[in-house]
This record gives sequence, C-alpha cells and structure tokens, in this order.
Amino acid sequence: MILKIASEVIDMPGKGNSKMKKATYHTLEGKAIVIEYDENAPCICCGLPVVEASMGGTKICPWCDMGRCRYCRELFLTGHEKSRAECEAVIRIHIEQCKPEETVNER
Ligand SMILES: [Zn+2]
Ligand SMILES: [Zn+2]
Repeated sequence: MILKIASEVIDMPGKGNSKMKKATYHTLEGKAIVIEYDENAPCICCGLPVVEASMGGTKICPWCDMGRCRYCRELFLTGHEKSRAECEAVIRIHIEQCKPEETVNER
C-alpha cells in the first residue's frame, strides 16, 4: 500500500496544450515516488477522464477508487457484487444514467 501525498500540475512546454500532472506517492519504506500522468486519460473503471490521481493510482479516478459516483456522490456498489467485472459493469451503468447531457460544441 502506498500513500498519495501530493499532486500538482506541470506544464509541458513545447507539447501543444497537453498538460501532465504529477502525483507524489509515499511508500511504506518512506520513499517518495513521483508519477506523471495525464488527467484526461480514461479511468480503467468508468472510462471517464481520471482528472486526479487517486490512492489506487493514476489509472483509476478518485471517485471509482472511493466507490462513489462523481455526479451524485452516491455509493456505486452494494457490496454484493461477486467479481471485479461485475463491479465495473455496475459502475458503468450508473455513470451512463447519471452523466449529464453532453453539450457537444463542434469547433
Ligand atoms: Zn472512474
Ligand atoms: Zn450517480
């Protein structure tokens, strides 16, 4: 188990407007590990941009990590899900229902 202690946004000069974020994790041995991640990378659980690194790492969004919906803040899972795949299915269905109507502005 590693603990996240900080995250910050770093600008990547010369790389368009792609912004990477840095998250600092603390290992049990007392070492700090800095991980760079893309806040727009899709969460492995809900498929939405991760936005922030979570305790579970930079591949899962903080909301899925906590098991809560990013829109309604309700808990996704009942605790009766039998597998990880089932949990992910429950989360995806919930997100689909909760997701606000997307206003797509073609530019
Ligand atoms: Zn997620
Ligand atoms: Zn919801």
